[in-house]
Amino acid sequence: MHSVLDSSIFFSECPVAGEIFTTPSVCGELVDIRSRGNFEKLCANGLQVISPGGQSRETIRAAAITSRDAGVISETDIDLLALALELEAALYTDDFAIQNVAAVLGIRTVPIHQRKARRVHWKYRCRGCGRYFNHDGECPVCGSAIKRKLK
Ligand SMILES: [Zn+2]
Repeated sequence: MHSVLDSSIFFSECPVAGEIFTTPSVCGELVDIRSRGNFEKLCANGLQVISPGGQSRETIRAAAITSRDAGVISETDIDLLALALELEAALYTDDFAIQNVAAVLGIRTVPIHQRKARRVHWKYRCRGCGRYFNHDGECPVCGSAIKRKLK
């Protein structure tokens, strides 16, 4: 599966699967240490930076007029959508205007913060050291039993 990443993913710890891509315009928005660090980390995991072609950018502009988002969508947004269109990729974004335009063209979008929130649901806890796990069994750290946490 191909995934195209919006700049907000570099400000989160959201894990992404498959072959990952972003655009040079997104890279230009990553100016602080944290997002640059996440960018380097994802590059080490195979992140590719690609510019979309002019024709797919025109398709996105037309779709943005259809969804009435032409006034709010940025050049970076257009690049991301155009790249997702070209690669038939899922687009990771929390931006509503991008999601609207994507819907017009049948581009799949994956919300970043919703995914992140779901991941932080810990259900199991070690009786010995108190660490949290996502399964029961024996604690790999201290050897005590991991039990489902009672709420
Ligand atoms: Zn333990």
